[in-house]
Amino acid sequence: MKPLVYSVAATTAAGSAPHAHHRSTGWHRSGEQVRYFCSSGSGSGNGGGGGGSSTFAGGSIGGSGGGAAAKRAAAAPRARYTLTFVHTFAHGGDTVYFAHSLPYTYARLRGALAALGRDAARAAVARRTTLCRTLAGNDVPLVTVTAACCGGGGGAQQLARRPAVVLTARVHPGESNASWIMDGLLRFLTGAHPAAAALRERFVFKVIPMLNPDGVINGNHRASLAGCDLNRRWAAPKAHLHPEIYHARALIQRLHAQRGVLLVCDIHAHSR
Ligand SMILES: [Zn+2]
Repeated sequence: MKPLVYSVAATTAAGSAPHAHHRSTGWHRSGEQVRYFCSSGSGSGNGGGGGGSSTFAGGSIGGSGGGAAAKRAAAAPRARYTLTFVHTFAHGGDTVYFAHSLPYTYARLRGALAALGRDAARAAVARRTTLCRTLAGNDVPLVTVTAACCGGGGGAQQLARRPAVVLTARVHPGESNASWIMDGLLRFLTGAHPAAAALRERFVFKVIPMLNPDGVINGNHRASLAGCDLNRRWAAPKAHLHPEIYHARALIQRLHAQRGVLLVCDIHAHSR
């Protein structure tokens, strides 16, 4: 069993290699012999890769002993994991940046949403609004995807009865993988595939593709601009401190009262 597949991304700074006037390569997948393995809680740090994934599967995921197993796991030393890879530098003295996943910026999201709006077929089934503003004054985009009402009283009633599906991502800014998943989800849901068309006929999708734009813009790994882990504020969010969660929660409650919520899926993208 191989529970995780990691990839590594790399980019060079424009003109970074001495005497070489090459341009930045942009972020791209890189690295060979990529391995991610449990190096145990003992801090040995040298799992060597062999058998690492099996240790991971047995220790953290594979167990099914219920409460007793959970207590044993809680009492055990916390496992640590190691990522190793090989990268060949193309230029001597170059400056190369690495990321454990391809970055996905707020600007990229805005570009993707603008492109969606320019595509007439997609724009016919998707409406972009703003959920709220962040502490720094950035918009938190909200995209509603559903089939257009077919007209007449019956069509309007059918539309009103469609349950909601709420999809969110990037409450943790460092988990850029979640944005790539969301990017694909949005393109699929607004696309021409018959399955997407059937889903749009049955549900109203409320998509918040980036719950924590301030964290993404400022390069935080987990926190908001106020230094909060917003994913720990769902129970009692404050409008003035955690507006993203406050308004997302209110949206879900409103949808629940109006039409029912079939699913809330918050996409994350890392393991411990
Ligand atoms: Zn997360």
